[in-house]
Amino acid sequence: MKLQTKIQLFSCIFLLILIVLTNTAIYFLYYKLSTDSELDQLAAHTDTIITELNKNTEVPEKELLKAYVPNDGMIRVIGKDSEPILGTLTKNEAYSKLNSAFETSEKRTINKKIAPEHVAVISKPIIWDDGEIVTLQVSKHLIVLKEHMHTLFFVLMIASLFILIPTIIGANVLSRFLLHPIKELTQAMRENMKQGHWKKIDVQASQSKDELYEMEMTFNDMIDELQETFMKQEVFVSDASHELKTPISIVKSYAQLLERRGLEKPELFTESVQAIDSEADRMQKLVEQMLQLAKNQQKTDFVEVDFTSICTEAVKTFQGAYTREIRYDGEEDVLVLGNPDQLKQIVYILIDNALKYSAESIDVSLEISNQSTVILRVTDHGEGIPVEDQKRIFDRFYRMDKARSRETGGTGLGLPIAKAISQAHHGDLSVTSQIGSGSTFTFQLPFMKEAT
Ligand code: ADP
Repeated sequence: MKLQTKIQLFSCIFLLILIVLTNTAIYFLYYKLSTDSELDQLAAHTDTIITELNKNTEVPEKELLKAYVPNDGMIRVIGKDSEPILGTLTKNEAYSKLNSAFETSEKRTINKKIAPEHVAVISKPIIWDDGEIVTLQVSKHLIVLKEHMHTLFFVLMIASLFILIPTIIGANVLSRFLLHPIKELTQAMRENMKQGHWKKIDVQASQSKDELYEMEMTFNDMIDELQETFMKQEVFVSDASHELKTPISIVKSYAQLLERRGLEKPELFTESVQAIDSEADRMQKLVEQMLQLAKNQQKTDFVEVDFTSICTEAVKTFQGAYTREIRYDGEEDVLVLGNPDQLKQIVYILIDNALKYSAESIDVSLEISNQSTVILRVTDHGEGIPVEDQKRIFDRFYRMDKARSRETGGTGLGLPIAKAISQAHHGDLSVTSQIGSGSTFTFQLPFMKEAT
């Protein structure tokens, strides 16, 4: 069942139940009040008859009673044997169908069985001429009340229709209003799925800023985000395949060279195998780094990490592996929240780059700024990075000098990996550089506390 039909059906059924309950309550309340009032009037009439009977003892009872017979009813005097003493006094024989019953106490009843309309009956014990107790029964057919009840029934029906029709129209308008953006959303999603579009929803500027507006805006933002991620992914795949193409074609051309001339010229053998081996290493490194990049974009659990230890150990490792001077000057016992492997990796990438792209000494420093930020600086005294390249070096596969980078085994993925790690740690990675005098890479991340 469609949502629109559900909204209409639910609102109409709910209202219908309310109307039926209210109307039934009104109908029966009116009936009760009217019959009570009729019984009160009849009881007062009966009291008048009894007073007149007691006052006018010289007038024959039958004559006196005849004068008090209600227009739409009858009067009876009933003996102990439940038989009428004076017969039934009435202006219309149709009103004499009521059973006669002897009663010893006053009784007010509404008889619903005998006539097309209900009958109000008052039975009261009185003392008759012969000193016997008899029952005076006075009844009245509620013809007017029946007509009133009919009229009330029709009025309530018409009033109900007057409420129900606008409600049905209102529910229709409301459901259309509510469902319009949902339909648009579904339509846009279908088109996006079928035709590979990035279709967004038309959001009117004049539209009130309600939940539906928010839903549409969120959908559009989501489409923007998806589109951006998709584009990035596409660029990454094409860059990655492009990067892998070079080593593969080198491996292939050496293999062909060996096939053609390897037997005649055995000296080609060593050169080719070395080249193939080095290109295979390069491919392996590329693939590993691509996997690393994808991994670093996933969320990992953070723990308390001694960042000072990570930096000093990294400096020691590089000092041991290279003959270059690496100076370290840093705060002791700096604790941060993070992933120790990723933090180690970022320090390694920055020192490794400084070693690769400079020939002089390197400075590594660690400080705490304003008790809120930890700042790691890796400074080299190499060629420096031109301003126009300073932003681009953080893009995947970007290398300023491809040939040189190839020699140093660079893939163009080190800094993007470092950037992804810094972002995952709510930090920042930036560079300042001067051509000819060197570069400083600065990694900032939130400070946790000093180790005790
Ligand atoms: P690669 O594997 O090529 O080193 P990176 O992403 O680490 O990849 O670096 C991207 C490029 O940025 C490098 O190819 C290099 O041209 C430049 N670069 C990085 N670090 C330095 C540095 N300390 N000094 C000069 N250039 C640098």
